Amino acid sequence: MIKTVGIIGAGQMGCGIAHVSAMAGYRVMLYDLARERIEAGLATINGNMARQVANGKLADDERKQAVSQISGSTDVQDLAAADLVIEAATEDESVKRKIFSQVCPVLKPEAILATNTSSLSITRLASATDRAERFMGIHFMNPVPVMKLVELVRGIATEEKTFETAKQFVRSLDKTITVAEDFPAFIVNRILLPMINEAIYTLYEGVGSVEAIDTAMKLGANHPMGPLQLADFIGLDTCLSIMQVLHDGLADSKYRPCPLLVKYVEAGWLGRKSGRGFYDYRGETPVPTR
Ligand code: NAD
Repeated sequence: MIKTVGIIGAGQMGCGIAHVSAMAGYRVMLYDLARERIEAGLATINGNMARQVANGKLADDERKQAVSQISGSTDVQDLAAADLVIEAATEDESVKRKIFSQVCPVLKPEAILATNTSSLSITRLASATDRAERFMGIHFMNPVPVMKLVELVRGIATEEKTFETAKQFVRSLDKTITVAEDFPAFIVNRILLPMINEAIYTLYEGVGSVEAIDTAMKLGANHPMGPLQLADFIGLDTCLSIMQVLHDGLADSKYRPCPLLVKYVEAGWLGRKSGRGFYDYRGETPVPTR
């Protein structure tokens, strides 16, 4: 029975998972490396919940109750009470491995450990834990409070009981489950990221401007967001990591990350979260950077 959810990483995804878990009545412990990250994360969650109140989607009492369920910490020991821990730190296998080596000794033996990775092998990540049978992928979509889907991914050793508990947990958040096998980037990102990468090649080759490409896909393919706008929203570092995982894992040149994507990441232009990507977000309205 899950009562307390530990979340590792107070970035875009960790905060979203904290938000929906607290709303569903779970106690939440949000862990990150630095106090500023936690504070910024808690402020984001507060702001997003306040917006839901303003839009009539949430009562103010419910917001207060949900906020009171969330605590933040920079001490890994505080994850000891968790029945389920969801790792939502940076998409980098070495970072995640290091986190598991620090967190596993702290956890209750029966606690389930999950990762929100967008692309990495669940079986390989499980091997860096002390609980492969109680480890799996619970992959939320961004922004978590809005997006209905959660992909569930079992590693080779994941026990049925773990899978069933994860299913119950995700259903209790009022999300819809899709089950994916443990292949690079699972289902959604296996299909979505090559499209985004192709949009970046289209820009790189001068076929169209940022605006032309996004308008084309919004009005020509009925996508709610253009692919470059979506890339900025996901985070260009995360997009690049996913393309590298597809390229390495499937060994097919069709997944080669676009050099322009690499360049943006090297420049620190990571999209919305850093203020600049294919659009510049520092003014009132986003301005295309190409
Ligand atoms: P982000 O950059 O917004 O946040 C990552 C957070 O992890 C940061 O706050 C960072 O301080 C923290 N962190 C890094 N190393 C840490 C450590 N050792 N211990 C504790 N915290 C640490 O990234 P994000 O977009 O929230 O992505 C997080 C995870 O979720 C990634 O695995 C990503 O692939 C996945 N994901 C992202 C999206 C998306 O659209 N951005 C969607 C689904 C899944």
